[in-house]
Amino acid sequence: MLKSIGVLTSGGDSPGMNAAVRSVVRTAIYSGVDVWGIYNGWRGLLDEDLKKLERKDVGDIIQRGGTMLGTARCKRFQTVEGRKLAYEHMQKYGIQGLVVIGGDGSLRGASELSAESGVPIVGLPGTIDNDVWGTDYTIGCDTAANTIIDAINKLRDTASAHRRVVVLEVMGHHSGWLAITSGIAGGAEYILVPEEEYDMDIICDDMKYAYKQGKRYILVVVAEGVASGIEIGKIIEEKTGIDTRVSVLGHIQRGGSPTVQDRVKASQLGEKAALALISGMSDVVFGFQADRVVCINLHDAVNNKKQLDPEYLRLSKELF
Ligand code: ATP
Repeated sequence: MLKSIGVLTSGGDSPGMNAAVRSVVRTAIYSGVDVWGIYNGWRGLLDEDLKKLERKDVGDIIQRGGTMLGTARCKRFQTVEGRKLAYEHMQKYGIQGLVVIGGDGSLRGASELSAESGVPIVGLPGTIDNDVWGTDYTIGCDTAANTIIDAINKLRDTASAHRRVVVLEVMGHHSGWLAITSGIAGGAEYILVPEEEYDMDIICDDMKYAYKQGKRYILVVVAEGVASGIEIGKIIEEKTGIDTRVSVLGHIQRGGSPTVQDRVKASQLGEKAALALISGMSDVVFGFQADRVVCINLHDAVNNKKQLDPEYLRLSKELF
């Protein structure tokens, strides 16, 4: 059984990371295990930016977006020397295992550190993109989708008043989960995701026809990995002649108080991760499948690509 563990958040921040950290820390302390908070992701391990945490250190954070530990993208950790130094610092502080909360990049780093040094690591998927293989859910995706819905509701009002096409650009370089989920929930007419190809001529002809039939407005949700909202809006306006406006949500999607789902699921995952690590498990990621907590192999999680649910793609086209 491990006596001292560390926890860090890495990569892009996501709402619910705090709930996960709180859960890891309190579960460890409840189990009589020391827990070190490592600040600013992998960088904190390299710079010895860490502190032993008490129960009270994670008070008043469950309702906050972001991460109280801070996060970073750290190039040095991507080298063998960097990871060796990280391992040496873990030994120096007596940290026997790590809970790593982050997206696929952070988990890939975790997998490499564990393979090279043998240090036990348990991962939690923390990213608004919901693009980690093996889990239906990643910490923060629900809050981000709800933030987008809020924007869609507001954009609908003004689009309808002016008979406009409104294009909303949302996050997702490689994954269309946020776009498709919020697009379906927001009733968007067109949802453009990086997993598919589009013929803008056909889309624009459809739009012109719909307007002739009396349609008052059209809402397009585009994931940033397809093209920028500006580019898509320009094409639509040029090809249809319909007054078109573009909104880019940007980093607003990362922030905000986490939803109930993100708080509860992150708390469940944090507890499972801490207990698993303390009991000697390693190289696993905890996630959800069909609303149940599941344990996934860490190497499988980082070496497989999650596919966008074809049911979502089908539904988005059927309901348009
Ligand atoms: P998000 O999905 O929100 O972008 P992420 O965890 O995928 O989060 P990345 O920037 O890809 O974000 O990764 C975060 C950090 O993890 C990197 O800055 C780097 O320190 C580490 N990392 C990423 N890929 C690797 C790798 N192949 N080997 C070692 N470390 C890595």
